[in-house]
Amino acid sequence: MDFDADVVVVGGGIAGLVSTLRSLEYSENVVLLEKAPTLGGTLPVTGGTFAVEKNKDPAIDVFEPVETGIEWLRDHGISVNDPDDRWLTDDAERIGRIDTLQFIDEMAALIEENGGEIHRETAFKRLKLDDEDEISGVVAHNENGKFEINAASVILATGGFSGNADLIEQYFPHSNIWNGRHPWSTGEGFIAARNIGAKTTRGLSNALGGVRPAPPAQITDDNRRDTSTVYRDQTVILNADGIRFTDESKAVSGSTGLVSQFLNNVEEDGYLVLDHDIYESHTDQMAFSPKIGTLVEGARDAGAPVVEAETLEELGNGLDELGADGYQAVETIRTFNAAVRGESDERLRPPREDNRYAIDEPPFYAIAVQPTIVYIRGGLDINHNAEVVSQQRSTTGLEYVPTDMTQISIEPIPGLYAAGIEVGRSEDHSYYHLGLSLGLATGRTAGKHAAKRAKAKQGEQPPAGTS
Ligand SMILES: Cc1cc2nc3c(=O)[nH]c(=O)nc-3n(C[C@H](O)[C@H](O)[C@H](O)COP(=O)(O)OP(=O)(O)OC[C@H]3O[C@@H](n4cnc5c(N)ncnc54)[C@H](O)[C@@H]3O)c2cc1C
Repeated sequence: MDFDADVVVVGGGIAGLVSTLRSLEYSENVVLLEKAPTLGGTLPVTGGTFAVEKNKDPAIDVFEPVETGIEWLRDHGISVNDPDDRWLTDDAERIGRIDTLQFIDEMAALIEENGGEIHRETAFKRLKLDDEDEISGVVAHNENGKFEINAASVILATGGFSGNADLIEQYFPHSNIWNGRHPWSTGEGFIAARNIGAKTTRGLSNALGGVRPAPPAQITDDNRRDTSTVYRDQTVILNADGIRFTDESKAVSGSTGLVSQFLNNVEEDGYLVLDHDIYESHTDQMAFSPKIGTLVEGARDAGAPVVEAETLEELGNGLDELGADGYQAVETIRTFNAAVRGESDERLRPPREDNRYAIDEPPFYAIAVQPTIVYIRGGLDINHNAEVVSQQRSTTGLEYVPTDMTQISIEPIPGLYAAGIEVGRSEDHSYYHLGLSLGLATGRTAGKHAAKRAKAKQGEQPPAGTS
């Protein structure tokens, strides 16, 4: 069942869906391969927020701007709501919000209406090259076996390698790290590109993410939302020595790189400590603003080790029983309380920029947690056309001393594009800027250039009205 296409898009998350729709503006022969039975990738578990960073000159601005992308989606009839409130953090603002399941359905319908082919339960295996070492298609696999699609352009949007145990062990040598996304991103895109000489960026050992209730908690699709720990920015986070190691108030936006800090400071479990006031309040980090206590109970119901105590001393005893240093934990909380109440001149280390509430209203709670990867910063290196950069054809990816820019050249692998999490991102961007917005920006850029290349290879001009 081998066949021909102009563009093959691999992966049906936001980046792949956007790439496919964009390619269809320039070509009628676009195929989307999705390994899972359903489309959307990470989308169903996200809050659906498109965000951009304020006051920055973001590297992704070299791609098609996120704001224009939102207008483009609306022009296609895709529902993107204005956010109720643009403020997200001091550094980032919401600029649009989608109902993620509706978005997936609308995008899939639109792709098919425009002649795109969607192949679900079809896994990409490897890339094909012609005699000139240019992309000539893909090898894929479905229930009928292996087949090939010949295509001048391939867009990799498989979501990176957070589900590949071997690569995770190589880049994150920590026994208790979890995949916080979906199980399908097992690195075929990343590996296939590397096998044909793709250049990767820095940051392959740097993940943004959060924490999940520790085993024996069982997290399933049914309780994933109710066991979320997005309220961690309100808590005090301790390691087993009873020591704080991060500014918890930044532990959701990812600007503190919580996962990397966990890997450096926590051997097994860490602990989220909160009091009754926090338990009774609501978190605005999820679309439906749940009560934090509901999420604590969600963790307890799932089987996580949770200590509940009427005094801080009792909390310390409970932490001792879990194998942590309860005495030091209580000392740390007392020091924290004195600092946030302004009773001590001692500066908190690490600092606590926001949410400076004392943990002093019983009952007290401590929930054992372990780190989860939301995404890995490093990935395939792409140029401003979203073409994957070739390691062999380019010069150094490291800063070059002495800086003689005339010696730097960046050459792509002809016909290979990447979008979304698959691509490496600059280390100083926060979680929000790099999620759906990155998928939209790089997906549009990749879709456009991949289809234009395929058409140019056939000697055709882009359709009228496109640029
Ligand atoms: C809990 C959570 C909440 C989040 N909330 C937000 C938010 O509100 N706002 C925001 O901006 N970002 C958010 N993010 C981040 C955001 O969801 C991701 O950055 C984005 O969805 C990634 O899109 P993607 O298309 O690059 O990858 P993915 O969504 O991972 O899609 C990749 C697709 O490729 C498929 N695939 C993998 N391998 C193959 C193969 N060999 N062959 C064929 N198909 C393959 C997968 O099945 C998957 O469908 C959140 C992430 C998480 C985990």
